[in-house]
Amino acid sequence: MKILVVGSGGREHALAWRLAQSPSVEAIFVAPGNGGTGSVDKTSNVEIGVEDYTKLVEFATANQVDLVVPGPEVPLVGGIEGYFRKVGIPCFGPSKEAAQMEGSKAFSKDFMARHNIPTAEYRNFTDYEEAKKYVDSVSHNVVIKADGLAAGKGVIIPTTKEEAHEALKQIMVTKEFGSAGNEVVIEEFMEGDELSILTFSDGYNIKSLPPAQDHKRIFDGDQGPNTGGMGCYSPTRIAPKSVLKLVDETILKPTIDGLRKEGMPFRGILFTGLMMTKAGPKVLEYNVRFGDPETQTCLPLISEKTDLAKVMLAAAMGHLDSVDIEILDKFSATVVVAAGGYPGSYAKHKEITVSAVEKDTKVFHAGTTIKDGKLVSNGGRVIAVSSIADTLEAAVAKAYEGVKAIQFQDMFYRKDIAHRAFKQQPK
Ligand code: ATP
Repeated sequence: MKILVVGSGGREHALAWRLAQSPSVEAIFVAPGNGGTGSVDKTSNVEIGVEDYTKLVEFATANQVDLVVPGPEVPLVGGIEGYFRKVGIPCFGPSKEAAQMEGSKAFSKDFMARHNIPTAEYRNFTDYEEAKKYVDSVSHNVVIKADGLAAGKGVIIPTTKEEAHEALKQIMVTKEFGSAGNEVVIEEFMEGDELSILTFSDGYNIKSLPPAQDHKRIFDGDQGPNTGGMGCYSPTRIAPKSVLKLVDETILKPTIDGLRKEGMPFRGILFTGLMMTKAGPKVLEYNVRFGDPETQTCLPLISEKTDLAKVMLAAAMGHLDSVDIEILDKFSATVVVAAGGYPGSYAKHKEITVSAVEKDTKVFHAGTTIKDGKLVSNGGRVIAVSSIADTLEAAVAKAYEGVKAIQFQDMFYRKDIAHRAFKQQPK
């Protein structure tokens, strides 16, 4: 099988690495890829951007690609699946219609309401004055979300009514997130622990990977501004089997069934962000693709006996029930190494050295590129180091040992990945 992976992050490096282990895979192309993806076995980078659908289709057709795996949300929301459907190349990713579950928060909230899927109380607004009036009328704390894609920045958690008004102004009047702010969702603030679940689906069947917990804030102790994700671990201790069963029954199955019944069967990977509230698990958000860094954490937990390429093709072709996903009885942890200054401004093109790491540790490149034959930084989140081990403590320790193999000027990483798990009871 020949596979085209679309994207250039740590997620795509992890996908290429894991797909390369599939005996059924003969070649992997990553468009545009990064400084790490070109060096994975069987893999080569292709200089085509993630939204250049016509060129991607031309390349896939000319190279007889058997499966396309889009990584980021932008091409999925932009309808990349449809371009490949037209030429008969299976795409592991939802249609433009189903991708609205991530592309429009108002759409996904209304969808959840139609299907009785537990989530925070909410109202959608297109009118600024109406939105302000609503904020003033409710007694609970609110979260304000720009409707469209805003690279993870369009969610504001105000602590006072004044801050809430200011947030509405930023989104709806000054249009800080452009047209993504034409509509806002005003949601009830929920208390609890967060977790993420990645679920393979063919539109009917679901198969989930173990639950993961991301670390969105830049500094230790969950302080400072939000980032794309500074580290992750899996499985979490806050979701025993009984809770995962409840999540399947009340959230994941109704979501997949609801999408199919509304004429937009979901084929690909559904990322569900959950808040474990006192009243049970509730949906924070859906993403219609692999998470980053959840992918770097969860893929190493899939046994080598599982052919990931066959799983993805089966999901894309509508027969996920014909394949098994075997999960290792281990823990996985990921530490993201960022450029100093991220998520604010940071320097690029710092030379990076990566020395050898042990077998159960993987170094996944994200913001890296090759310049004048040298590996240099090229983004905020530069590298993710993931390790698996028999205990969470050992996986975290190994990942930090792996970080020692990375060197570049002003590199920065959190020192407390999985700190919340260590405060909880072992499972
Ligand atoms: P990303 O794509 O980066 O995950 P996003 O922009 O799609 O983020 P959400 O996941 O909806 O936005 O929200 C970002 C974060 O804000 C959540 O991970 C959570 O910590 C917090 N948050 C969102 N909604 C709520 C809520 N109703 N109650 C409490 N916290 C919330």
